[in-house]
Amino acid sequence: SSFQGMSLSRPILRGLASVGFTKPTPIQAKAIPIALMGKDVVGGAVTGSGKTAAFIVPILERLLYRPKKVPTSRVVILMPTRELAIQCHSVAVKLASYTDIKFCLAVGGLSLKVQEAELRLRPDVVIATPGRFIDHMRNSPSFAIETIEILVLDEADRMLEDGFADELNEIMNSLNKSRQTMLFSATMTSSVDRLIRAGLNKPVRIMV
Ligand code: AMP
Repeated sequence: SSFQGMSLSRPILRGLASVGFTKPTPIQAKAIPIALMGKDVVGGAVTGSGKTAAFIVPILERLLYRPKKVPTSRVVILMPTRELAIQCHSVAVKLASYTDIKFCLAVGGLSLKVQEAELRLRPDVVIATPGRFIDHMRNSPSFAIETIEILVLDEADRMLEDGFADELNEIMNSLNKSRQTMLFSATMTSSVDRLIRAGLNKPVRIMV
């Protein structure tokens, strides 16, 4: 299989080529077509499998083929740690280099005020840790979450181990019910399963 056969638009194919991704990894080959159909996805995948591009590529594709006339925050990606969020942001920015899609990193250790100002500009994609995202949700009245169309929970098992179950449930309950949700986890524990049942809609399960 190839990225060319996935009916991706030219700027995305150029972004993939620019980072040297020529052939999809197994999780990418399986998850991208399902995610492009708008379905919820559960991916059993570890770091190193290529799961970042597995969710970033269909996100970029949707943002491109359904553009908005005004700046709108449309995607939230939650990661367990600041370091993983920074890594994800850097991959996403590179894959999107031939688009004008805007990203915002919302993690602890960066100034809340600066992030609030960035969120007010309605970046298309917000990459955040659960604690910091909740802070903004509760305390920044200018942060519009009702326009979010896609939620990604990456390393869900780790976010639960770190004690974020309540935050994740609060976030899922606050977002639009019609959203698409993608959840990735290295292990499928009973608490991951509870999260899936609480927040995903007939997900397609992909195990690699
Ligand atoms: P991830 O699991 O998303 O952290 O990716 C693990 C590593 O695989 C990263 O260094 C990526 O740059 C690399 N990678 C991801 N997808 C591909 C691909 N399709 N072709 C080659 N390398 C890839």
